[in-house]
Amino acid sequence: MKFKNSKVVIVGAGNVGSTTAYSIINQGLCEEIVLIDVNKEKAYGEALDMQHAIHFMNRNITIHAGDYEECKDADIVIITASAPMPKDSNNRLEMLKPSIQIMKSIVSSVMVSGFSGIFIVVSNPVDIMTYLVWKFSGLPAKQVIGSGTALDTARLCCSLASMYDLDSKSVHTFILGEHGDSEMVAWSSSTIGGKSLTDVMSDNADRTKNETKETLLEQTKAAGWEIFSRKGNTCYGIAASTTAIVKSILFNENRILPVSVLVEGLYGIDRVYLSVPTILNSSGAKETVEIRLLPEEKEELIQSAKVLSSFYEELK
Ligand code: NAD
Repeated sequence: MKFKNSKVVIVGAGNVGSTTAYSIINQGLCEEIVLIDVNKEKAYGEALDMQHAIHFMNRNITIHAGDYEECKDADIVIITASAPMPKDSNNRLEMLKPSIQIMKSIVSSVMVSGFSGIFIVVSNPVDIMTYLVWKFSGLPAKQVIGSGTALDTARLCCSLASMYDLDSKSVHTFILGEHGDSEMVAWSSSTIGGKSLTDVMSDNADRTKNETKETLLEQTKAAGWEIFSRKGNTCYGIAASTTAIVKSILFNENRILPVSVLVEGLYGIDRVYLSVPTILNSSGAKETVEIRLLPEEKEELIQSAKVLSSFYEELK
């Protein structure tokens, strides 16, 4: 008897796609990775480079450049493809048009192959792109997930951990809503070592210094630009967070991560893709977790949902 090989296809072999592939092979998460890119030479070169790296790794993964028919038996298709944004427009829908067209053509090619697995969308603006992939694919919403605020949450955990000289994994907090300007933090449920973050901040005033919840959130939002403005892209953090999503799905972990999912009814938000803590397993987004938010936090999240749903109106 032969077991089915686990297979991940990555569409877009640029900075994010290639680094994600490298992160997955480093952790030995599947048997096969396929890289697809309009720039076939780039996909071929990245795959060949990684084939040689596998010699030094714990698991012999097959990695190669390929085409959309390869999606047929894939467990996961990760989309990191993106078009350069037009610079001469201040109309947000105009700005998005090339990305929408790319998403439409990618999803249609993937679906023609007979794909019935799970999409993980990383391309920005990730919440809108994930919504479009859900619409274009016709797959159940639980099989279409955006990388969402998993990375933003990690960034906030890292800032807090460095302030108090802790392992960032000992900080428990969630950034919810849009991966972008309107995102918010579920501060009232944030804890460090079982102690409320509010208490930690006031009991450790010498370390907290002038930092406030507002400055911490602003730094988190600015982190992507801090990196981008220096090196021209961001890749390691997003690759690692996407890899964590892949692992939760392939290993049926039931891990809870803040990812972009279709929120229906939660907090009075209806049919909007945004980030909430979500149980991830082999079925995809198995279930969302309803954190008890303060009324003002709930309002912030609803406002973030409105920012996103206003796009849907324009897309019609
Ligand atoms: P990049 O320009 O390095 O790579 C994009 C790749 O997509 C290129 O190789 C390009 O050839 C390919 N491509 C374009 N059109 C395609 C198509 N129709 N089919 C297949 N491939 C196609 O960009 P990057 O730095 O890798 O970023 C990729 C995306 O990830 C961007 O949208 C970026 O904003 C996003 N991103 C998201 C997060 C997040 O937290 N969600 C973080 C970082 C980057």
